[in-house]
Amino acid sequence: MTEGSQLASQTTALIFDFGNTIVEFGPKQFQFQNDELLRVLEQNFGSCDRAKLKEIRDRQIVRPFSNGYRENHLPEMCAEIIRELYELTPSEEHVELLVQTRYRTYLDGLFLTDEVASTLEELHQHYRLALLSNYPVGDLVRQGIDQLGIGHLFDVVVVSADVGYVKPHALPFERVLEELHEVPERTVYIGDNWLADVQGAKRKGMSAIHTSQFMPYERFKPKPGDYEPDERIQHLQELLRMFVS
Ligand SMILES: [Mg+2]
Repeated sequence: MTEGSQLASQTTALIFDFGNTIVEFGPKQFQFQNDELLRVLEQNFGSCDRAKLKEIRDRQIVRPFSNGYRENHLPEMCAEIIRELYELTPSEEHVELLVQTRYRTYLDGLFLTDEVASTLEELHQHYRLALLSNYPVGDLVRQGIDQLGIGHLFDVVVVSADVGYVKPHALPFERVLEELHEVPERTVYIGDNWLADVQGAKRKGMSAIHTSQFMPYERFKPKPGDYEPDERIQHLQELLRMFVS
């Protein structure tokens, strides 16, 4: 029995990360978001310091990881951008304008390849699938997977914003297991982020597969004593060889 089929035989549910696991959510998407935010900011407040906007957003993206894994609050993040760039207290309308820009650019930036879509379809024939994503707005991720036509493939969708904490915190993992009515030993987690996905899942007793199909915007390097993933893949399609064939 190969390692892959052993993992398959003990597995009933596959739990996926979203950004950089199913869809690319890397430097290109962040650049697109920043360009659009810049355009909206300049329309409303005048000339904008592009480098400073990037610096604020870079800081916000990793903030949960130095804040006890507490998830960000999107309206607060938008208010912070206006406050720091223009040294003024933003109105609710202005905050809402940036929130809407974030919503729009998130959805516009999503692209699913045919190979990934058919891989998920195929896995869905044999396993229960779930999605567990770090993002400050839960409904946006749900809207995103529906827009891509894959929403129906997931029995359970949990987003960090739903529980208030980001992976690798235990709570998002506990929530997805609870909603799946599964024990960790019968689940495999697939994700790109070494800390959030691999360490988070392994600490919870799940198996973990590290994928490097896409280039993430933020990287977390392995530390001494970290768990190793059970498998490493470079394309989601490799899961078919492990779990279906
Ligand atoms: Mg990811």
